[in-house]
Amino acid sequence: MDVELDDNGNYKLKIILIGNAGVGKTNLINIIQDKEFSENEAATPSCSFFMKEMTIDKVNFNVYLWDTIGQEKLKAQTKIFFKNSKIVILVYSITVKQTFTELEGWLKQVKDSLGDNVVLGVLGNKKDLFMQEEVSEEEAQEYAKSIGAEWGLTSAKTERQSFVTYLENLIKIYIQCQKQVKIKYILEPINI
Ligand code: GDP
Ligand code: MG
Repeated sequence: MDVELDDNGNYKLKIILIGNAGVGKTNLINIIQDKEFSENEAATPSCSFFMKEMTIDKVNFNVYLWDTIGQEKLKAQTKIFFKNSKIVILVYSITVKQTFTELEGWLKQVKDSLGDNVVLGVLGNKKDLFMQEEVSEEEAQEYAKSIGAEWGLTSAKTERQSFVTYLENLIKIYIQCQKQVKIKYILEPINI
């Protein structure tokens, strides 16, 4: 994995959320933007990514969170969407089994575009609707483990902080991966 600095000296970090339409990706990204939860069916984002400065383990990041603008139904993201992504979060809804089984197709797209050089997350959303659960925690955990992903469970509606914590955790994993690849990365900014 390579690292790149932004104009303000922060490390650039691109994170994408993918998964079927309706699982809650836009509402999850709204949490990071401090926007309120939206009940609307199509919470269409105004732009395709959002940047937030985050300091994790004393490292300053400009985190670019990319959202899809309704392209999910095409099942084919543009190259630019995947390009340079360091963390990919595969999102499913615990209330719709199909959104979980179809993660495999999303994963294939990730592998085709990014290979293995990426930190993976599998995130179950809509935990507040547990009465309608179609995907058990056990099977989701097992699947995440089988693909080397970090599993999480949240609700964009009622457990907003847990998504932030989950995201921070993935960034910590990314830092650990970087440390293994480039020992000097955290200690000294790279001079080119
Ligand atoms: P996207 O298509 O993946 O971007 O999904 P959206 O963020 O647009 O959400 C789709 C629908 O699910 C909207 O009606 C949201 O209000 C609803 N939704 C999203 N997250 C949650 C959640 O955690 N709990 C509940 N109850 N509804 C949610
Ligand atoms: Mg959306």
